[in-house]
Amino acid sequence: MAVQQRKTVVTETIKTETTTTTKNVDHQVGKTWGRDRDVSFGTILISLGILVMSPLWVLYTYISCNGYQCALSAPALEIYNAPDALVALKALLARELPTYSPYAARLFFTWLTFQAVLYAFLPAQIGYGQRTPAGHLLPYKVNGLLAWIISHAIYAAGGLYFGWWKLSIIHDNWGGLLIAANAYGYFLTFFCYIKAHLFPSHAADRKFSGSFIYDLLMGIEFNPRFGKYFDFKLFHNGRPGIVAWTMINLSFAAAQYQKIGYVTNSMILLNLLHATYVLDFFYNEDWYLRTIDIAHDHFGFYLAWGDSVWLPWLYTLQSHYLVRNPVDLTPVQFGFIFAVGFTGYFIFRSVNHQKDIVRSTNGECMIWGKPAKVIRTSFVTSDGKTHKSLLLCSGYWGLSRHFNYVGDLLISLAMCMTCGTKHLLPYFYIIYMTILLLHRIQRDHTRCKGKYGKYWEEYMKAVPYKLIPYVY
Ligand code: NDP
Repeated sequence: MAVQQRKTVVTETIKTETTTTTKNVDHQVGKTWGRDRDVSFGTILISLGILVMSPLWVLYTYISCNGYQCALSAPALEIYNAPDALVALKALLARELPTYSPYAARLFFTWLTFQAVLYAFLPAQIGYGQRTPAGHLLPYKVNGLLAWIISHAIYAAGGLYFGWWKLSIIHDNWGGLLIAANAYGYFLTFFCYIKAHLFPSHAADRKFSGSFIYDLLMGIEFNPRFGKYFDFKLFHNGRPGIVAWTMINLSFAAAQYQKIGYVTNSMILLNLLHATYVLDFFYNEDWYLRTIDIAHDHFGFYLAWGDSVWLPWLYTLQSHYLVRNPVDLTPVQFGFIFAVGFTGYFIFRSVNHQKDIVRSTNGECMIWGKPAKVIRTSFVTSDGKTHKSLLLCSGYWGLSRHFNYVGDLLISLAMCMTCGTKHLLPYFYIIYMTILLLHRIQRDHTRCKGKYGKYWEEYMKAVPYKLIPYVY
């Protein structure tokens, strides 16, 4: 039934876009809509900073958790308070740096290959993304939910029934896995940079900024692929990244059990919140094809290394914390965090559903019991064709232009709150998500203004708030 519904949505999404080849258009494809971009010197400097600092930050959190019980300031203070900072730094690195492990490397690359095989060969629905700036409407294999179920079933059966590994295997090899994942993340980044120049999948959708650093970070190719279906963006974000997310949490829960003899209710709640978010992602994978990740972002270090290292390491920080600092929540605390998390989830899902339903029915639907209010728009792709789309401006999308982010922020906050209030490190996720989503609002505004022109202005007048009504 669910599969049948998704099939219908896919077909109708295509139907809602009508295409003409008229040149009589209100606005041309702007520089801001995905094809071309002037990058300032400041942006290049910031890009360089991100390239250098992101891996260092992941390493720092690893050291802080591994050697200092996740006390964020402890490694820095140790160096700061030492009589000779350089000697102290060298000693700290010699003691705490993760080391290469052939076993962990085999584990990582077996996992990656296994996910690639599942992605390529499991039965799949075919979903469609948004029309690209060069006018492509790409098909995607949607089979993430099945891959998630199979991966977790094998992990659980191998650990609990066959004794092939301990369930804490990921936790136990965390340092070695970090090195392997970094090696792959860097390889993928440079491979995609070279591929974009030498054998691009869709040449007209490439974006050259004129800066090597910016191109490396943000990517040149929009949808790099092997063949018709092996899409780098969907695969890397979904499979090694998001399938791993829940498995890492389970492995850290198993490690907590080995360490203290039981799994705390905070760890259970954290696993529940993360699993809800992840399963929602895969259940609605077809919807994901029309989000900014797929419809806007090019594939560079930001996604290649980000999906391989940043996401699995930093999105799971709370479970690293809870292994070292078990927290037993009182029933009231548990209930409160549960309520915040699932209220956030309800908002997140309902807002995203409204957008998907209004697009898939071409605006012929009810939103909050009334006919949907929409702005009918047109936009132009680089082949000169005009396409029609629509912007919803009632329901949640009439409250603010990104009310879905409010839901996401509430879930993220709840995930962090499972760790109590003693340390800052587990709150990294909500701080990061706030920065990411605020920045995304700005990026999306620039993109949509370039894409929709006067229709976007009209939408902004109809819905003036960006995130929280009457506040921002
Ligand atoms: P949206 O799903 O809100 O997508 C924005 C796009 O939707 C716009 O570019 C535009 O694209 C279209 N759009 C904008 N306004 C309207 C409207 N009124 N009616 C119809 N379509 C509209 O944003 P994201 O892709 O950023 O986020 C998707 C979800 O993923 C969110 O819930 C977010 O919180 C979550 N998320 C989670 C992250 C994580 O790491 N955990 C990271 C980022 C996001 P177009 O018109 O071209 O289709």
